[in-house]
Amino acid sequence: MEARKLISEKLNDSQLRQNLDFAMSLLQTNRKKLIKERYGDWEGLREEGRKVKQNALSRLPELLQRFEEKATQNGIRIHWASDANEANKIIYDLAKQHNVTKILKGKSMASEEIHFNAYLKERGIKAIETDLGEIIIQLIDEPPVHIVVPAVHKNRYEIGEIFEKHLHVKRFSDPQDLNAVARTHLRKEFKEFKMGLSGVNFAIANEGAIWLLENEGNGRMSTTVPDIHVAICGIEKIVETFDDAVILDTLLIPSATGQGITCYNNIITSPRKDGDLDGPREVHVILLDHHRSDILSHKHYSKALSCIRCGTCMNHCPVYEKVGGHAYGATYPGPIGEVISPQIFGIDKYGYILNLCSLCGRCSEVCPVKIPLAEMIRDLRSEKVGQGSGEEILGISRVKPKVSEKIGFKIFAFLASTPWAWKLMLWKVRLLGPLGKPFASIFPMLKQWTSCRAYPQIDANFQSQKLEGVIYE
Ligand code: SF4
Repeated sequence: MEARKLISEKLNDSQLRQNLDFAMSLLQTNRKKLIKERYGDWEGLREEGRKVKQNALSRLPELLQRFEEKATQNGIRIHWASDANEANKIIYDLAKQHNVTKILKGKSMASEEIHFNAYLKERGIKAIETDLGEIIIQLIDEPPVHIVVPAVHKNRYEIGEIFEKHLHVKRFSDPQDLNAVARTHLRKEFKEFKMGLSGVNFAIANEGAIWLLENEGNGRMSTTVPDIHVAICGIEKIVETFDDAVILDTLLIPSATGQGITCYNNIITSPRKDGDLDGPREVHVILLDHHRSDILSHKHYSKALSCIRCGTCMNHCPVYEKVGGHAYGATYPGPIGEVISPQIFGIDKYGYILNLCSLCGRCSEVCPVKIPLAEMIRDLRSEKVGQGSGEEILGISRVKPKVSEKIGFKIFAFLASTPWAWKLMLWKVRLLGPLGKPFASIFPMLKQWTSCRAYPQIDANFQSQKLEGVIYE
């Protein structure tokens, strides 16, 4: 669907807005309360987190190599995938080798990024989601609306209806009953599976281990019950030490859900060993690049790879809160999505989502690893119209500004930097503005502008206001 139409559809969905409003304010409040009560020096911790990620990213090739060596020594098989197709093919080939027709899935945004479910479906293999939110959206065939809470746009009554329709059970609305329905549905599935798939929160180079965080136990089931466990790991998930991962974990969980710790912490160091009672007989880790190396090569935008996927930038974004994740049409929505989706999937295709930002800067203020999101969104906009750094980056084919735009901005720059001209312009707008109002619907540019904005009112005292000069660094 055309972007403008999609956004306006979401804006007009009052139920969606109500659900998002409730969920986002709950997530914000829980985070704020926990940080205030439990964390003496949250800002200091954020700075530590930033340094941990910057250190890892600045030595990424070395740490990836160390991770591969250690993990291989531990008996984990490492695969390298340069793009989505390679990653999907590796998993598909593994499934074929083991005659697997269904794969049990824990939550993984990397698998969403490579459109794993669709790839397998086309080849006759079914991926069964096990995370509660993912089950809900899989039943209604929708992509995740949020990177942490995939079905946050649905309330419990709507979830009850979905379960009634697709799982043929009584309609419930109590969260405990809804959980019980999902549990019964999944227990049947868990018995039959040979292969489980998961994401990775942190890959620890010194240990050759992966760390998965979750709240429902489905991740542990997906990684221990089947004979084969495959984990998809974006290369930016590498950290050097276990202590580094602990710092990031301490930042991630309060930011994501307002909890101090997740219910389950799965640290996987090897396949099942002789004498172990459970665990997979094979563990495979796919190290996924998919344009991450391109992002890393740019000194400014590489900071986006510090993201630990907590989702708090979405929870605090005034635009996301109004339209939800589907309006972005990309795997990664919200402020971090605006920075990485155009870089991963192409700015030609996803450049429009850079407009879903008011540049208020809340995202940068709350990001636990201090990614300057608002600044990067602004700079990417600038890249998109060919006024950015000028370096060859991100495969961007720049949109040349129109001549009318160039002239418009030149006139604006003159007015904004010349006090007498600015005052004269305000005087004219104040005088002639009311006459322009009825004609706004005739001129295409004014029509678009005024369709969802009030016609500007000029303060009667503008003549007496002092115009201060503002100097930017
Ligand atoms: S950019 Fe920051 S706030 Fe947003 S998801 Fe990533 S770590 Fe969280």
